[in-house]
Amino acid sequence: MIYFDKVSKKYPNSVALQDITFSIESGEFVSIVGHSGAGKTTLLKMILAEDNPTSGKVFFDSQDVHALSKRALPKIRRRIGSVFQDVRLLPNKNAYENIAFLMEVAGRTDQEIASDVPHVLDLVGLGDKIWSFPHELSGGERQRIAIARAIINQPDLLIADEPTGNLDPINTAEIIEIFKKINSIGTTVILTTHNKKIVDNLGKRVLTLDHGVLSRDDKSGKYAI
Ligand code: ADP
Repeated sequence: MIYFDKVSKKYPNSVALQDITFSIESGEFVSIVGHSGAGKTTLLKMILAEDNPTSGKVFFDSQDVHALSKRALPKIRRRIGSVFQDVRLLPNKNAYENIAFLMEVAGRTDQEIASDVPHVLDLVGLGDKIWSFPHELSGGERQRIAIARAIINQPDLLIADEPTGNLDPINTAEIIEIFKKINSIGTTVILTTHNKKIVDNLGKRVLTLDHGVLSRDDKSGKYAI
């Protein structure tokens, strides 16, 4: 599904990625670990084509994402759901509206929206918070709404950039269980974290970045730095 071919990214004052090569198959659950500044977010940006590599290529299902036309790129991006540490819900919309909004943008009917939104909120364990506004929810609940929103249009790939960075251990464990559930129903998951416990407990593949270098690729890895 994803193939990085000798990808480097240089910024004026730093090298964020150095000659990175790896592939991720459809259905995998991959954690990307590394200290702050190791290049994790930059790597995710390369997949979403939010920034161009200095050299090398990134493929999504054999398509070079940085060579796509202006019309083709949104098609790829629609196949990717994203979750971030800072959640990014619309503050003046309730849980239902925050999720419905993305379905409207994707051209889905009111009927589809009315049936899918409660279903996805049940999946993240928040069926009873459907009419709550972000300020009425805890940090963990807000992140679960953001995950529901990221998967509402059934992406093939879910990207999560430090999704538990602001959460306590109990909320963190719950969020990871949700990612595992999403992965078990067929969605590829890529998660960045510097939380050693998450990765140890997952026992799934771990890519380790060290100053922009892919220093390890462990099949059923433990946090190695
Ligand atoms: P991580 O997500 O692992 O914390 P990042 O990918 O955010 O790491 O950053 C990797 C390196 O690239 C850091 O040295 C950071 O300062 C630098 N960097 C990231 N984004 C930019 C940018 N837009 N402009 C300049 N330097 C950047």
